[in-house]
Amino acid sequence: MKCPHCDKKISLFSKTLNKFGKVKVCPHCSEPFKSFINFKVAAILFIPALVLSLFILKPFIISLGLTGGVSTGIMGGLLVLLSMRLKKLD
Ligand SMILES: [Zn+2]
Repeated sequence: MKCPHCDKKISLFSKTLNKFGKVKVCPHCSEPFKSFINFKVAAILFIPALVLSLFILKPFIISLGLTGGVSTGIMGGLLVLLSMRLKKLD
């Protein structure tokens, strides 16, 4: 994930991105930006994510003794993260 202003990398797991609220501030240049879900990317990623979830992640999760629903949750969260984009405020 890159800052739309200074192009520096912002970690997906940084406090900035995981803060609630629509408007976030870059930790490098302090400029505000918005995060949004790119639904085109999400749609493209949906099928491989589903296949991965059902055939690879689910058996693994079940072998750990957890319910299969956990894998759907993980894939859903990953899908959101991967299709998240940052843009400047208008
Ligand atoms: Zn920045």
